[in-house]
Order: sequence, then C-alpha cells, then structure tokens
Amino acid sequence: MPHPGDSPVRARRALVTGVGGQDGSLLARLLLDEGYEVAGVVRREHSAYRDTLGDLIERIELVRADLLHHTSLVQALQATRPTEVYNLAAPSFVPRSWDEPIVTAEFAAVGATSMLEAIREVDPSIRFYQASSSEIFGEPRETPQTEQTAPSPLTPYGVAKAYAHFIAGSYRKRYGMFTACGILYNHESPLRPVDFLPRKVARAAAAISLGLEQELVLGDLSARRDWGYAGDYVRAMWLMLQHSEPGDYVIATGVSHSVEELVEHAFRAAGLDWRDHVRSDTSLYRGAAELHDLVGDASKARRVLGWEPAVSFEELVRLMVEADLARLQEASASR
Ligand code: NDP
Repeated sequence: MPHPGDSPVRARRALVTGVGGQDGSLLARLLLDEGYEVAGVVRREHSAYRDTLGDLIERIELVRADLLHHTSLVQALQATRPTEVYNLAAPSFVPRSWDEPIVTAEFAAVGATSMLEAIREVDPSIRFYQASSSEIFGEPRETPQTEQTAPSPLTPYGVAKAYAHFIAGSYRKRYGMFTACGILYNHESPLRPVDFLPRKVARAAAAISLGLEQELVLGDLSARRDWGYAGDYVRAMWLMLQHSEPGDYVIATGVSHSVEELVEHAFRAAGLDWRDHVRSDTSLYRGAAELHDLVGDASKARRVLGWEPAVSFEELVRLMVEADLARLQEASASR
C-alpha cells in the first residue's frame, strides 16, 4: 500500500520509538514482513536489548536518541529518513505513574511533542503514529467508549497520554501533518513484563503447574478489563498510517473480562483448578483512581481500516501460559 503522492520507487522506511518494548518489537516484525526498512530509537546500549529484541537486533537499525533532546531526534530522522514514525516510547505501567508523575509527563507528553517538532523540521510529509491509550478516558463518561467520547483522564499516565493525543491532533489541524492516534485498550502477549496482571497470572499458573510455586495472591478478582492480543493491535497501528486520511481510532475487543475469568482460563490452560491456588487479598485492591471499567467500541477501525482482532481472549491467555511453560521448562533444563 504506497502512500498517495509517493513515487513508486521510494522505499518504505519506518522509525519506531520504544522498539525494545512489547509493541515495538511486534510492530518491527510486522513492518519487516511488509517489506519495510526498519529503524528503532533506543535509549540504552544496543546490548541491553539483546534479550527483548532477539534476532531483530540484526535486522533493524538501532539509533540512540533522547526523546527530550530535539537535536538528537532531528539527527535520528536525518540518519534514517523514515516515511513513517511510530511513537511508542513511554513509561507504560500505569500504577508506576503515581510514583513517577514528572518523568511520565516528560516522556509521554513532552516526548511526543518533541518528535512532532523534529518531524516538522526534517520532513513534514512523514506519517506519524501516536500511541494513545484508553487511560485517556479515565472514569469514562459512557460505555463503550468511541473516538467521540470526551477524555477525562485520572492517572498521571492518562493525563500525559491525553496531552500527547491532543497535540498530535493539533499538528494535524495546524500544519496539515499526517498524524494518527491509536486509542488502544490493554493488549498483551508473552512479551509483557510480569508487572502486568495477565503475564503475572500466566507465569504463576505455569510455575504452579510445574511445582515451582504454590500460590498466587491477587487484588480484586471482580475488576474488569478489555484485553486483546498485542499482535492484532500493532497491525491496527500500521493500517492507520496506510489510510488515505489521518485520524484517531479506538482499538479494542469491545468485551471486558474479569480478573477471575483471566485466572480461570490461565489455570485451566495449565491443567489446574484456579480455586486451589489463587487467593484475593483486599490490601492489594487498587484505589478508585485506577478502578474503571473501560470497554472500547472499535467500529470505526473495523469500518474504515478493515481491522478485526484475530485472537480471542481465551486463545490469548492460552498462548501466554504456553509461552511461560516453555520458558520455565527451558530454564530448569539449562540449570
Ligand atoms: P513497553 O513498556 O513494553 O515499551 C515501552 C517502550 O518505551 C520501551 O521500549 C521503553 O524503553 C520505552 N521507554 C519507556 N520510558 C522511556 C523513556 N523515559 N525514554 C525513552 N524510552 C522510554 O510498552 P508497550 O510496548 O506495551 O506499549 C507501547 C506504547 O503503547 C506505550 O507508549 C504505551 O504507553 C502505549 N500503550 C500500551 C498499551 C498496552 O496495553 N500495551 C495500551 C495503550 C497504550 P526500554 O526498552 O529502554 O525500557
């Protein structure tokens, strides 16, 4: 899918910030499969990404840059000459944003602005994807949420993401730049760190089934989330930048599941009954500012982009448990 106005011989090149994260690495693979030359912005030594990027480290160009340092972003753009930029870098663990509200604001909000400014200076025809989040809806004014739902963020993370969402829209209107925002709901994969609940549950179910651990202690089992598979969600990011018009899109499954359902599926996938191994501890319940039932309506993405999630909730949980079983078995075999 060439961009309108592109010469047919112009190579498609993408620059992905946060390429060392879950979405960055899955997106880099998708882009390579689509024939792109891919570069990634990282903040640490390349060797720090050997485990997370695996074979990708040889297949993509890694560029060190600081999202808050305008000159380093300009240099990264000049060196890699992308036709598309995907801005995924940000502190992504929502509860931690209460401990690090300033860093969160700097990288999630100011970082997006820095990248937009650098693009405007180097080549305003570059298409820009911004990783917006369902957290911009905070305590939602309606359910399910759509692109028209008024943002009302509550967490420092949600507030910073709302800023980035609005500034990307501002640059679209003011400068005519092609900026697209994906309002993505929670999406998971075996690449998620164990801080995140679905991975924590998948890993614990695998470890308990192998006799490595005895019990999993969680907070509120009735809390609900709209969880999807990250591989499906990075495809939506790419589709947004292939469309003839820039815009904002909710990307979600449209169905929420409780933590209890998550636990039930995960332990079943590991051949166990969750009730024998999982305990809920009220001291781990999250406060009101983080307890919200967000469910997205992705009708626009389905209609305009032809996007559909391909992996169901049950399949997602199973594939995460299977990946953790394989990891733990490999680790104990190599001991
Ligand atoms: P990850 O945490 O896996 O990846 C985030 C990436 O951002 C990492 O590569 C990390 O770098 C980089 N990063 C974090 N802080 C900084 C910083 N201060 N300076 C430079 N880089 C930084 O997140 P995901 O891949 O899951 O998410 C990608 C994006 O999508 C994020 O912006 C996230 O907020 C957003 N999002 C994610 C959702 C989800 O459910 N996964 C839902 C909605 C939005 P390093 O590798 O060096 O640590």
